Amino acid sequence: MTSTYDAIIIGTGQAGPFLARRLTTAGMKVAIIERKLFGGTCVNTGCIPTKTMVASAYAAQMVRRAAEFGVVTGGGATVDMKRVKARKDEVSGQSRTGLEAWLKKMENCAVYEGHARFESPREVAVGSEKLTAERIFINVGGRAATPQMPGLEQVEYLTNSSMMNVDFLPEHLIIVGGSYIGLEFGQMFRRFGSEVTIIEMAGSLIQREDEDVSLAIKEILERENIHVRLNAKCIGFSKRGEDIITHVECTTGAPEVNGTHLLLAVGRRPNTDDLRLEKAGVSVDKRGYIVVDDQLRTAAPGIWALGDCNGKGAFTHTSFNDAEIVAANLLDDDPRRVSDRIPTYALYVDPPLGRAGMTEAEVRKTGRSALIGKRPMTRVGRAVEKGETQGFMKIVVDGQTREILGAAILGTGGDEVIHSILDVMYAKAPYTVIQRAMHIHPTVSELIPTMLGELQPLSGTADAKTAH
Ligand SMILES: Cc1cc2nc3c(=O)[nH]c(=O)nc-3n(C[C@H](O)[C@H](O)[C@H](O)COP(=O)(O)OP(=O)(O)OC[C@H]3O[C@@H](n4cnc5c(N)ncnc54)[C@H](O)[C@@H]3O)c2cc1C
Repeated sequence: MTSTYDAIIIGTGQAGPFLARRLTTAGMKVAIIERKLFGGTCVNTGCIPTKTMVASAYAAQMVRRAAEFGVVTGGGATVDMKRVKARKDEVSGQSRTGLEAWLKKMENCAVYEGHARFESPREVAVGSEKLTAERIFINVGGRAATPQMPGLEQVEYLTNSSMMNVDFLPEHLIIVGGSYIGLEFGQMFRRFGSEVTIIEMAGSLIQREDEDVSLAIKEILERENIHVRLNAKCIGFSKRGEDIITHVECTTGAPEVNGTHLLLAVGRRPNTDDLRLEKAGVSVDKRGYIVVDDQLRTAAPGIWALGDCNGKGAFTHTSFNDAEIVAANLLDDDPRRVSDRIPTYALYVDPPLGRAGMTEAEVRKTGRSALIGKRPMTRVGRAVEKGETQGFMKIVVDGQTREILGAAILGTGGDEVIHSILDVMYAKAPYTVIQRAMHIHPTVSELIPTMLGELQPLSGTADAKTAH
């Protein structure tokens, strides 16, 4: 028997549940399908558990630094990994069970638990059940990629998902991948007490960032005695006794790293390979991401793709924003688009990096006239008072329009402070709006107007050429 709905949502990640509420509130009968854990990656193996663990790591670090603040602790800090995991499980579990209960109680919403696969452009099978609807929304997210690497089959390895079960302290954690996930786990486990080596194929960490940002983050990690190995061109693995040997070909240092545990953090892949998309006429690109237009419609009429599986973003906020865009177009007669949004994200090492808009390198590439402001955290009173002076902030503005093109705040509170810049960017207001605003003392944000008052021509761009 086939059950008929107005809409079917596949996956309960960061887009599906919000969309279910919008559609049911508008009077539609909705089916939502989840094959595993309600809330998906962010809630169970991504943002929420990792940031909960980052908080434990920060606490350990502050205990170690206590004497600097005049606090007597008896020296050192050891970490009870079972309690770190229990705290993480509790925070993540509350979020998951809260969401599951909310969906199951939602009026006009039927929850199916099982793996969904298309039968036709209007029909989805979940086990022996068949569902049909005129509108289908795909929110299936992604999973850790495990590319072919020589010897990988000989060793045990962890991913962001299996890391969630770690309730012990790895003696020496080797992390392959020097981007967001690798760096966050790296600093956190170093602070828990592990020796940590981060191995990256490229010549710099978090490659998409400007060189000064990437370098400053490397220095922050190295100050905590995290080993960073760049330019590891041929990564391979073998086993020696209990140890995992990672073979690297680096420009500096020994060609092997000998560790007890291995975490692969080398990217993500979309969960689109087992959906039978071909039966629905939904096309994917070379990497398996569902091809969508600016309003998240797939090649098949009546089918949308939201969140990580569409390749238009890889964050919780991009997935949630996808749901807002789809709901606005369908229900509010509001033609919101993906291209309306400004790229923004944070890296949760300590101190965090908050980013908005273009990097300095991207602005340079355009050749447009531009101005830049930069301030080290050592010249931010709030950072000095807190004893957290690592990092810097910088901002780039358009030389003609005076609009802010991009900013990076690597420093205490950087993940929050970036929003005052982001909101002015959305307002398309000139930077002088922030420059003239009175900010609260003492905060990191109060120095943004000061930094904007000291803008200089960005060398190599049109303004700098006129300035010379
Ligand atoms: C370690 C880590 C840390 C992260 N930290 C951050 C952060 O700090 N900030 C941030 O913004 N982002 C972070 N992210 C990214 C963020 O978790 C994702 O971008 C976010 O979860 C959006 O995912 P989504 O909505 O696309 O789907 P997901 O959250 O991945 O959910 C998809 C759901 O669909 C289900 N599903 C898949 N296939 C099927 C099927 N065929 N049938 C039924 N159900 C199916 C899955 O089981 C899953 O529950 C992090 C990711 C990782 C891995």
